[in-house]
Parts: sequence; structure tokens; C-alpha cells
Amino acid sequence: MSKITMKTPLVEMDGDEMTRIIWKYIKDELLLPFIDLKTVYFDLGLENRDKTEDQVTFDAAEATRKYGVAVKCATITPNAARVSEYNLKKMWKSPNGTIRAILDGTVFRAPILVKGIRPFFRTWTKPITIARHAYGDIYKNTEMRIENAGKVELLYTLEDGTENRSLIHSFDGPGVVMGMHNTDKSIESFAKACFSYALDLKQDLWFASKDTISKTYDHHFKDIFQEIYENEYKVAFKEAGIEYFYTLIDDAVARVIRSEGGFVWACKNYDGDVMSDMIATAFGSLAMMTSVLVSPMGCYEYEAAHGTVQRHYYRHLEGKPTSTNSMATIFAWTGALKKRGELDGLKDLFEFAEKLEQASKQTIEDGIMTGDLAALSDLPEKKTVNTLEFLQEIRKRLEC
Ligand code: NAP
Ligand code: MG
Repeated sequence: MSKITMKTPLVEMDGDEMTRIIWKYIKDELLLPFIDLKTVYFDLGLENRDKTEDQVTFDAAEATRKYGVAVKCATITPNAARVSEYNLKKMWKSPNGTIRAILDGTVFRAPILVKGIRPFFRTWTKPITIARHAYGDIYKNTEMRIENAGKVELLYTLEDGTENRSLIHSFDGPGVVMGMHNTDKSIESFAKACFSYALDLKQDLWFASKDTISKTYDHHFKDIFQEIYENEYKVAFKEAGIEYFYTLIDDAVARVIRSEGGFVWACKNYDGDVMSDMIATAFGSLAMMTSVLVSPMGCYEYEAAHGTVQRHYYRHLEGKPTSTNSMATIFAWTGALKKRGELDGLKDLFEFAEKLEQASKQTIEDGIMTGDLAALSDLPEKKTVNTLEFLQEIRKRLEC
């Protein structure tokens, strides 16, 4: 059988621990036998990040800007324990944070739905994609503990020295205070990424904030979304038969629960942080959650939403069998291959990636799955397989 050829290479970012093991298995079992795989390889494993003083992460992000489509393995974000475990020169920053800062993106997360793994909410029959604004708000805040009575003000000093003040609170005793910000540029690129992504998926876009209470801050988000919609997307949305819908965040939460799914839910940074864990859990498992960073420059970086599955890796190192779910990592690859196929006009590459997704889902629907899913699946007959066996079962279905 001749292999599928590619035009432009994918940017491949290898990672750490159990997901690094899976990465190689996926390539060996499901990609290399079928595709003449072209990638520009970056080793983002912690050892190499340390060796290159994290330069490799910056290079990988730059390459993503250049080539447009990347696929990333989960990586360790070092903490104190990792610094001693890996004898690191420094507590390197989160690679995802570095990449996001360079690509200035919005993160879209969507669950993989399969028969037998039922969402906790009966009505959810289609996936809900969360789009999380990845800049500012509480994540770049400044906080202060107020020890005693006193006046706290917001002070904005213009470049010419003019001062604008606004009272936050006159404290008559101890308390706390916080300041946070966002920029029009970042909100605009968030809005554009959401509208484009919804158009790509041909799904409605929902956006929610607390503009009734936050009449300047949240209201500004609402206004920017509305303006960009009217000026740039309204016609295209109409042609695609989809809608843009704004509501209050509390109303949105209630509607999401009652909905049947099948839409993109744009969330401010904090809402997205909280709601993506809710959505992932309610749909079944973190191991079934895909993630893609979409940048306003038109770059895409695909990955699994879960981490490096450290506990399983230590078992693997002890020579014990593991049953780690590779679905989200497989779908990171298929997402990237489909996007590459679409951009390069390679129909067979696109179709291969779809077929691989289908074979992966079919395996689970045939009752063959890893331990995490076996605990959730309501299929009458199921067989728990180990990490590699699961991939071999997918391969069987891919080959027939
Ligand atoms: P994690 O790797 O997501 O794993 C947490 C637990 O969730 C696992 O112990 C496992 O539960 C279950 N799980 C997650 N993915 C699974 C899969 N594919 N198959 C089966 N079970 C799965 O999170 P963590 O243990 O908190 O973090 C480990 C490392 O990952 C950290 O160093 C962190 O910095 C990094 N991380 C990286 C990313 C990223 O690169 N995007 C994201 C998050 C975390 P059981 O052990 O009960 O089986
Ligand atoms: Mg969170």
C-alpha cells in the first residue's frame, strides 16, 4: 500500500512522561505505517528544555507561526518537586503559557463523544466546545491586603501626567482589594477567534458575561463582541445558518445545562477556567477532552487537555502494565492532520485522519477500552486493555 503524502510539515512538539510514551506508540502504530509523515520536530521534554534553557519552546512556537499547524504532547510544568526530580537549572515556565504568549491565542476545548460513555446530563447529545480567553483579568491581577481603615482608589496616570481617580472603597476596618485589566487588542482577537471557530464548525456561538453588574469592564467585552459580529461576521453567520447569542453568565450556565449541546461557548478567562473542568467532567473524562489553540495570525496548535499522567508513568517505569487512554492525544494528531489537509488541499490526508478518529471511537464502542473508560462505560460487555493493546485494536479497525 502506498503511503499518503504530505506537502507542508507539521510542527511536532514532543513532551514528557506517559504521554511521551504514548506519543511514540501512536506514531509507530497509527501514523507512520500509513502516512509519509513530514514534521519539524521539537523535543519539549523537560530534560531538553533544561538543556536548551527553554529555547526549544520558543523555537517551537516560532515554527508554529511559520508553518501554521502544530501538534503538541503534554509537558511537565515544573514546580519545586520537579526542579529536584530533574535537577533543573531553573523552574522553567509553563510551555503552554510561553506558546500562548507568542501566538496570542484562544483555547478551544471539546469532548470526544462515544456510545457507552454518557454525559451526566441526559440532554447533552452533541459536544459543547469551550472557548477560553487566555489573557488578563484575575490571572494578571494585583492584590492588596488592607490592614486598617483607609481609602483605596484606582489611579490612572496618562502619559502626559494627567491623573484620573476613582474610589474603590473607604475601609473602616481590615479587608482585601484587587485590581485587574484587559486590553481591547486581546479582547478583539479573542472575539475574532471565537467567531471564526464557530464558522469553521458551523455551530452557534454563545458569549456571556456579567455586564449588568460590571457596567464598564464586562460591558466592554459585550460591546466588542457585538461590534465585531455586526461588522465582520453577521453575513457569514447568516449564510452558514448559525447564530451569535449573548446572555448573562448565570443565564448561560442554566441554558447550557438544559441544552442539547452542539455550540461554542465563549468564556472570559476565569469563567473558562472553571467551566472547562465542569464540561470535561460532565461529559465523562479528562482523557476524552481535546484542545486547540487558535491564534489570530491563523495558526493552530492541537493537544490533549490532560497532563503527562505522571502516576501511570511511574508504574510504567517499574515495568508494571498501564492502561492509559490515548484518545485525546490521537485526536490532537488527527486535528492537526485534518487542518494540514484542509490548508494544503490534501483530501486523502484529511480523510485518513477522519478514518482514524472513526476507528478510535469504534474501538471503544466495540467494548475495548482503557481502565478509565471501563469504569464509566455502560456497555454490557467490555474489555479493559493496556496502553499499547488499545492502539493495536484501533490499528486493526483502521486497516480493515
Ligand atoms: P494529569 O496528567 O492530567 O493526570 C491526572 C489524573 O487524571 C491521572 O493520574 C489519571 O488518573 C487521570 N488521567 C489523566 N489523563 C489520563 C489518560 N490519558 N488516561 C487515563 N487517565 C488519565 O494531571 P497531573 O497528574 O495533575 O499532572 C501531571 C503533569 O502534567 C504535571 O507535571 C503538570 O505540569 C502537567 N500538565 C501538563 C499539561 C499540558 O501540557 N497541557 C496540562 C496539565 C498538566 P488516575 O491516576 O486515577 O488513573
Ligand atoms: Mg482549571
